[in-house]
Amino acid sequence: MKYDRILIRYGELSTKGRNRNKFVDKLKKNIRRAIQNYSTAFVEGDLERMYVVLGEEKLEDIVKVLKNIFGIQSFSPAVKVEKDIEQMKNIALTLVQKLYQPGMTFKVTGRRADKSFEFSTDQINREFGAHLLINIPGLTVNVKKPDINLRIEVRKEAAYLFSETILGAGGYPSGSNGKAMLMLSGGIDSPVAGYLSLKRGLEVEGVHFFSPPFTSERAKQKVIDLTEKLSLISGEMALHIVPFTEIQQLIHSQVPSNYTMTTTRRMMLRITDELRKKQNGLAIITGESLGQVASQTLESMYTINEITNTPVLRPLIMMDKTEIIELSQKIDTHDISILPYEDCCTIFVPASPKTKPKREKVQHYESFIDFEPYIQKAVENTEMLIIRPGHSLKQDNLEDLF
Ligand code: ATP
Ligand code: MG
Repeated sequence: MKYDRILIRYGELSTKGRNRNKFVDKLKKNIRRAIQNYSTAFVEGDLERMYVVLGEEKLEDIVKVLKNIFGIQSFSPAVKVEKDIEQMKNIALTLVQKLYQPGMTFKVTGRRADKSFEFSTDQINREFGAHLLINIPGLTVNVKKPDINLRIEVRKEAAYLFSETILGAGGYPSGSNGKAMLMLSGGIDSPVAGYLSLKRGLEVEGVHFFSPPFTSERAKQKVIDLTEKLSLISGEMALHIVPFTEIQQLIHSQVPSNYTMTTTRRMMLRITDELRKKQNGLAIITGESLGQVASQTLESMYTINEITNTPVLRPLIMMDKTEIIELSQKIDTHDISILPYEDCCTIFVPASPKTKPKREKVQHYESFIDFEPYIQKAVENTEMLIIRPGHSLKQDNLEDLF
């Protein structure tokens, strides 16, 4: 007996009512794309159930891929059998024999979705239970907490037998919950914020502020590499590179130094919001974490956030740095993030930025400058890249990530 397919469970999707169609469709597409290098495997299924049929592929390889796909609650290697009791019994026996170790307990959980099947659910449980007990000496029943739970699902087209349940990545299928712009620096935090947003099913486009010649091509490459890591989840990701030098120089020549950081952040948010409108997004995502640095105090956020009423999502806001670092290691962005580089904000950072900037003050300082044409110019000159897996990594490195 060989597992010929993997049964996929949707989890949270079941609560999505009328959106279910869209979610299942997205998930199907995402799985299809993720297994495209395994040419004999394919996805089949409907609103109720989805299967990856293994073809000639190795079960372990496909399991590895599925573990990284959002929107899958759990999955089970399964065997499809004709609805013939004798054949089903044979498969059930080999399946349990494969999993059985001395001293283990079991139960059978039958499900008759096809009401025309000759056995009721109860009869399935008893018939198959007895067959296993007779043929596997030492095996005992435990209905509450069995080591092996053999599930037999009788559906219209066939019966499916499976036992192990492997935990999936959870969340929603990437791209199923609308679009948001991720403010992506080269640091540790923002890629993690991007990952969590993708997990929640958002379509994410990156926005990076770049200040040549104060920041180098290398710094830009770093952000491209980070985007590439995120694109492994979503398949591809747009990255907008905003030329920011002129605005930063303007701020530094016009605004008192302890308020430059506040104004800089306000301008970054304004430009990101413009790009959001252009791209039909509905939110902005940042890697901010409460209290971490001067720009991330509550007072700072209150003053910076004033310039827009677009939702600003901050997935890391209540997380500790150690938790964020752990996640960055898990998603493999950490080692890129810690490479030395010049960030547009660290270069222009004032000696003592205000930790409690006031709205009235910053409004006053900014009132002497007409930022609008500069903002429009920055938006116009923004470069948009589409980053896909393999953009800068070699194919064999890529496989390690799954
Ligand atoms: P990160 O590790 O994400 O850089 P951080 O702890 O270094 O965060 P800041 O540098 O204050 O904190 O940045 C706060 C947030 O502002 C970042 O998480 C990111 O969302 C955004 N941001 C900062 N610099 C840039 C940049 N150059 N381009 C785009 N967004 C940026
Ligand atoms: Mg930073």
